[in-house]
Amino acid sequence: MSDSPKPDIPVFAPHLKALVHVIFERAGWNQRDAALAADHLVLANLSGHDSHGVGMVPRYLLAAAKGLLKRGPTITTVVDAGALLTLDGGMGLGQVVGFDAMNLAIGRARIHGVCVLSLRNTHHLGRIGHWGEQVAAAGLVSISYVNVIGRPALVAPWGGTRARFSTNPICIAIPRADADPVVLDFATSRIAHGKTRVAWKRGVPVADGNLLDRDGKPTNDPSVMWVEPLAALLPFGEHKGFGLGFMCELLAGGLSGAGTIPGRMDWGVIDNNMLSIVIDPARLGGGASYAAETERLIEWVTSTPPAEGFDRVRIPGEPEREMRARRGASGVPLDPTSWSEIVAAAVGLGLTREDVARVARVNIPG
Ligand code: NAD
Repeated sequence: MSDSPKPDIPVFAPHLKALVHVIFERAGWNQRDAALAADHLVLANLSGHDSHGVGMVPRYLLAAAKGLLKRGPTITTVVDAGALLTLDGGMGLGQVVGFDAMNLAIGRARIHGVCVLSLRNTHHLGRIGHWGEQVAAAGLVSISYVNVIGRPALVAPWGGTRARFSTNPICIAIPRADADPVVLDFATSRIAHGKTRVAWKRGVPVADGNLLDRDGKPTNDPSVMWVEPLAALLPFGEHKGFGLGFMCELLAGGLSGAGTIPGRMDWGVIDNNMLSIVIDPARLGGGASYAAETERLIEWVTSTPPAEGFDRVRIPGEPEREMRARRGASGVPLDPTSWSEIVAAAVGLGLTREDVARVARVNIPG
């Protein structure tokens, strides 16, 4: 790892979105799908989750070039039984399949009060909070469990030394009447795998307690997750995070029939399966009190004096919105390696470096 990391390149969100849009269109996606992908990826960066932002674009394009990530309409219906809906994403772009699948689930929940959506075989669904926010914007609650197959295992089980499953995220999103939703959205590993990519590319270590090396010993070196032979992330919260990640594997992969991780690991593609329960709060009996109760709880929880090192208590979803305000004003900081990979991907699709500089409004040294 280098001692002095190179400075980040700030790119303003609208320009970054324009660049990602052009890249996806050049790579064969239609205008609508390219816009959905650009919106999703740039919002992940704006939210502070660079691990699930535009730095993924080169990997997506590589998967598409290998025929592992598909273009065009890819969703097929496997089970359609009213409130129960099983969809196959056909390995389409997760940013598009997720959007369309969630819209279908929202429609079902409006009719039946609830929808249990099982979405299988979708290319990387990105920041799962994006889907929670989409459902919350429709006034509905969602609970999502995700597993990841089709890439090497990344997370060691509690008490183990070798990776056995992935970073399996969970998202719970609760809409509020006149305020932004509560959005709990995290990987069940101590940190998202993509955060080790960002640290590795920036040339910085990761904090203590996140990684095991190839001998199963603690390490701070993020390269152990990217340079063969690969090592392991630790689950968050010891046996509790491990238990939740394990359940994601069973709920999103096992229950849907999509499959779990053993025997289906390959670097070529990121394959997500997601079980989402979408609930119309107005139909569950607590309709009248639910909104007021949510506000009462938030006020109660955030009224505690802050602990040392904290300015105040935040509710889930707030840090992302604060980061959006900051990065919206100052630009999205892209690490130089990720930026040069994005430029290379654009050039590989026939754009010139001048085109990239013009669209992103960034100076690119010759
Ligand atoms: P994280 O550790 O940053 O935790 C984020 C969650 O914690 C958010 O809900 C946030 O609002 C809340 N939070 C953070 N600080 C808080 C504070 N001080 N007070 C209250 N709440 C706080 O997230 P992560 O585990 O690094 O995951 C990052 C992203 O990676 C997520 O969006 C996740 O969906 C995504 N992910 C996707 C996949 C996939 O395969 N698609 C896999 C793993 C992770």
